[in-house]
Amino acid sequence: MSFNHPSFGRIEDNRVILFDTTLRDGEQSPGFSMNLEEKLRMAEALAELGVDVMEAGFPIASPGDFESVESIAQKFAKAGPVVCGLARSAPGDIIRAGEAIKAAARKRIHTFISTSPLHMRVKLRMTPEAVLEAVTASVSLARQHTDDVEWSAEDGSRTDPDFLCRCVEAAIKAGATTINIPDTVGYALPEDMHRIFSMVRERVPGADQIILSTHNHDDLGMAVANTLAAIQAGARQAEATINGIGERAGNAAIEEVIMALRTRHDAMPFVNNAVTANILKTSRLLATITSFDVQPNKAIVGRNAFAHESGIHQDGVLKDKSTYEIMTPESVGWTTNSLVMGKHSGRAAFRDKLASLGYTLGDNQLNDAFRRFKDIADRKKVVYDEDIVALVDDEVMRTHDRVKLMALTVATGMGTRPTASLMLEVDGEKCDAVAGGDGAVDATFNALQQVIPHRAQLKLYAVQSVTGGTDAQARVTVRLEEDGKLVDGQGSDTDTIIASARAYVHALNKLMAKRARTAPPEIIPAK
Ligand code: MN
Repeated sequence: MSFNHPSFGRIEDNRVILFDTTLRDGEQSPGFSMNLEEKLRMAEALAELGVDVMEAGFPIASPGDFESVESIAQKFAKAGPVVCGLARSAPGDIIRAGEAIKAAARKRIHTFISTSPLHMRVKLRMTPEAVLEAVTASVSLARQHTDDVEWSAEDGSRTDPDFLCRCVEAAIKAGATTINIPDTVGYALPEDMHRIFSMVRERVPGADQIILSTHNHDDLGMAVANTLAAIQAGARQAEATINGIGERAGNAAIEEVIMALRTRHDAMPFVNNAVTANILKTSRLLATITSFDVQPNKAIVGRNAFAHESGIHQDGVLKDKSTYEIMTPESVGWTTNSLVMGKHSGRAAFRDKLASLGYTLGDNQLNDAFRRFKDIADRKKVVYDEDIVALVDDEVMRTHDRVKLMALTVATGMGTRPTASLMLEVDGEKCDAVAGGDGAVDATFNALQQVIPHRAQLKLYAVQSVTGGTDAQARVTVRLEEDGKLVDGQGSDTDTIIASARAYVHALNKLMAKRARTAPPEIIPAK
């Protein structure tokens, strides 16, 4: 069996559409917000990963959200993934979403309304009949903007089965081409998902002429299992995010869904368009942009996901990898040899290396990156891929930052009060400051506070090493909170104090960008 879809044409029955919502469900979780430039970089990486649909944002939510959806739609004006904008059932939401996605070659409006008794009564204060009318009205309006319309029953897993079927039927009749039944609150068991999707397919007229979609949250750690259960019961679109980011405990991790489908093709004979070798790169990009690393034991993309520690396992893997590896590290983008370069490496080799890591830089950016690379190579015997990724993300990709760290000296020792003197460039002007503190990091942060006055509180300060060895670069994460807004900054250097200063400056830049979205720029450098 197969049928025609407005965006994909004829779809074979065993094809699973990958719907990525990293930029919407993922981005709306605390601490994970991204600016426009970061979203565009992420969008490009998602396209290279091979996702079919990219939920780019929630256009009505703010002018910034609208702008990012619109920019992503423009980026894929000729070709690329389907660009999707989210909308509640209100006409204003749908019209705004329609405007935001307009430029995309293939575009979708995703509209939703709650259907569970609790949500309808408490949140919407609407009767079931009124909700049913809103389903028809919202989908019909969305269809005026694009033929590719997705409708979601929010809190679908806790919805009365009869009412769910009536809503799905109404949405299909009004022209929805994808029907999503989410486990919004992460409550369902895999068997619940299986039952719900089987029921909808059996009972709802026209359910075989649309794509059923599943969207699961990980509150009980079952998001991926629920996604696979739904697919086995007939869902043909999986909504998920890179690294599983998203509201609360997050969404199903797209890399886990992709690799489960691939590794267990014997039990789940479905196909998708993912380029699995790009998985790790995409995961790392997201971690760098948001400053949140995945935990070491995270499936597929965690640092330990393919590490064999026990002697028995190591012995087995050396004899035959398949003794303890169900998939190869290379298939998801891990490279066996990450040892790359030293201080004698030239500019051309460095450029080739950057290209292999997925960075194409302009001449000026390349010069900056090469200078920083030489500086690190002078201090470190060997420079690893991870070091290069850290330096490029740190230095070169932040060309729009208003504040730059130019120089830093810290004097410290037992029995003396540490002093930091630093020089910053703020909007092109040089400013310097000297401050003392309880420790080297405290003194540095105090000096930064002198140049850029702010009320932000330091909420988190964490140091990790980028690679092994005492000469390894330190990667520092700094989280600031101002007026309830959280920002994370990252910085790396072989010197922990300099890495700390870079991270703090990065966080301040993000904070200023956030302020700028709500109020006119207010930073006045102290001279
Ligand atoms: Mn969600």
